[in-house]
Amino acid sequence: MNTSGNISRNTVDYLRISLIDRCNFRCQYCMPEGAEFDYIQSQEMLTNSELISLLREVFIPLGFHKFRLTGGEPLLRRGIVDLVREIAALPETEDLAMTTNAYLLSDMARSLYDAGLRRINISLDSLDRDVFRQITGRDRWERVWQGIQAAHTVGFDPLKLNVVVIPGVNDREILDLAALSIDRAWHVRFIEFMPIGNTDLFEHKGWVDSATLRQLISDRYGLIESNCRGNGPADIFQIPGAKGTLGFISQMSECFCDRCNRVRLSADGWLRPCLLNESGQIDLKTSLRKGDGYEILRGKVEELLFLKTEINFKDRDRGTGEQKTYHRTMSQIGG
Ligand code: SAM
Ligand code: SF4
Repeated sequence: MNTSGNISRNTVDYLRISLIDRCNFRCQYCMPEGAEFDYIQSQEMLTNSELISLLREVFIPLGFHKFRLTGGEPLLRRGIVDLVREIAALPETEDLAMTTNAYLLSDMARSLYDAGLRRINISLDSLDRDVFRQITGRDRWERVWQGIQAAHTVGFDPLKLNVVVIPGVNDREILDLAALSIDRAWHVRFIEFMPIGNTDLFEHKGWVDSATLRQLISDRYGLIESNCRGNGPADIFQIPGAKGTLGFISQMSECFCDRCNRVRLSADGWLRPCLLNESGQIDLKTSLRKGDGYEILRGKVEELLFLKTEINFKDRDRGTGEQKTYHRTMSQIGG
């Protein structure tokens, strides 16, 4: 991290694209059952061709070559396979990944792979059907597990599983979830629970920091720092002899702004410089639709990238002291 006061710019080459703000699950920490959401109207969503134009004419020329499709639930987006195919076919695309709850994956894994998707992250907070239902609001564990198996069979590599630990809900399963990385080359990533989406739950249950998780896993299985460091915010470890790895994303307990390489585009075309900070975002869709040329759009994005480091370091909420709440949920931002 640069602590001298001279803020240097990280290389930002990774765009996370939220394709939709709707979801077929109601995860307690994200879109809790009963909460009301201001869904984006369909005419406000970026169309596939607008999105491809933004990638081709704005983001790629500015050095973006890595894309992740997320949401909401990206597999609910109509025409998702065609969109994957179009993005994968852009010659400059170096890496195309998706984050999904896997409910629709068992039927779609093959066509997504054939369309060019190679990396997939699947949210799996529990191996217990009842706990899974409690967390997601849906009795769908088996179907999600089938989706994970389908992704494995089709050959997605790496295949990552995202886990959010909620004290008193799924913390009993930390060791079992970590153990999924032993016999298969699956990468289990523990993401610290954030006060986004359901601040009541956060205040009521609290959260578990990555250091505590690592200690627990280390006491049981041993844990070594892995030399296959990813290019993102996760700290990567491995159970000795395991085929897969364990990642810890510690946005609450640590500051990893110095290695942040990403920005986020919402389904309605807002570009956001930082997950934990709402300032500085720009409305690319309105600019595009009112006919601003690509040069103007590129200029706006460059300006945002220039401000990004400063925004991160200044106002980032670490979850200590006075809790900050956020206006958009992860499903809207594109987690
Ligand atoms: N629906 C897809 C899924 O669940 O994988 C993609 C979108 S979801 C918003 C992306 C990731 O954000 C998931 O892995 C989820 O666990 C995580 N997430 C959502 N709300 C969160 C919160 N309050 N704290 C930490 N992670 C959260
Ligand atoms: Fe849906 Fe994903 Fe949010 Fe769960 S975490 S409610 S699956 S968007």
